[in-house]
Formats: sequence, structure tokens, C-alpha cells
Amino acid sequence: MEHVFDIPAEKPWSGIVRAGQTIRIIDSHGQQAVDTLFYNAHDFSERYSAQDTMRAQGAAYITTGTRLMSSEGRVMLILTADSAGRHDTSAGCCSCESNTVRFGHDTRYLHACRENFILELARHGMSKRDIVPNINFFMNVPISPDGAMTIDDGISSPGDHVDLLAEMDVLCVISNCPQVNNPCNGFDPSPVRVIIRG
Ligand SMILES: [Zn+2]
Repeated sequence: MEHVFDIPAEKPWSGIVRAGQTIRIIDSHGQQAVDTLFYNAHDFSERYSAQDTMRAQGAAYITTGTRLMSSEGRVMLILTADSAGRHDTSAGCCSCESNTVRFGHDTRYLHACRENFILELARHGMSKRDIVPNINFFMNVPISPDGAMTIDDGISSPGDHVDLLAEMDVLCVISNCPQVNNPCNGFDPSPVRVIIRG
């Protein structure tokens, strides 16, 4: 069985992925950051932990083989395929507040991932306090030897994808990033596709 969901540019989405199913996220047009959170579908207080994921694998980037860890130290999903190469889980999601600090006060009214997450989490009875450090699929955040981080030009090509095998029933919440002030979306936010199989 296969379910296909198209997420328009700049929009949020959420869906359940059952244990044993695989969720594929496709960067349909390339260079599109896909801000993503995961929650235990039966207990939202257990959720994706960027810190535990990086500590468990001893590396800062997410790619094939990465086990996405929960706040309870359990494996939520395993990355089984990755045609793009690496993904960020350090830089967080964009917000109206961070936009004004980074890009000037006139960006205050631009839509941001934090607003997408608030809207989508509200559909599941959660609020902004449930937003935790997220994964940025297809976002290129090189970390230099001295530890400096930058949000750089995306390296994903049209059609690049990641596959994630669920180890538990999870709620996946996505913000298709609307950022237009830095190169994470090639300055042109575009649609992405999600396919749940199994
Ligand atoms: Zn964003």
C-alpha cells in the first residue's frame, strides 16, 4: 500500500507512519529545506531528540544509517536511503523573530517554519512549547573545523529523496520551509512530495 502527499511550497503537513512503514520525502525541485519533527504517535511527550541522535551516532549530520533517537533514548526511525548525502539537525527552524535579527525588521511579517509548526501541531492538540530542535532535510549547514556553522547553498538536486523506516508508530510533522532571505531554499520555495509505503 502506498499513500502519496504533495506539500505545496511554504505549507505545513503532518501524517502518521506506522512501525514497519517507510516514509520517503522527495525534494521535487531541489534545494528545498524540509523542516521535520517526529513524535511517538501514542504519547506525544516522547519526541525526536537532535541531541541524542547526534550523540548516539557520534556525528553532526544525518545520512544513510542514522538512527533518529527519541527523548526517551529509543530509536524512532532509521534512515535507509539518502540520495542527497547529508542533512542538518543543528540549525533549528526559522521564525519571524530570528528573521528580524538576521535579515532586518522588514522581514517580521514573512511566514516562517515556526508558524507552520504551530499551525500543524495545533491540529494534534499541541502548541509552540512542543516544538523541539528539528531535522532540516536537504538543508546544507557546513560545520567548519573551528566549529563555525553557516547556512549555505543547498546541494540537493530535483528528485533527491530520503527514506526513513519507522521503528515505532510516529507522527511526522513537516514545515516546507518558506524562507526567502538565505540560500536554504535556493531563494525560491518549492513543493515537496511525501510517500508512505508498507
Ligand atoms: Zn524555515
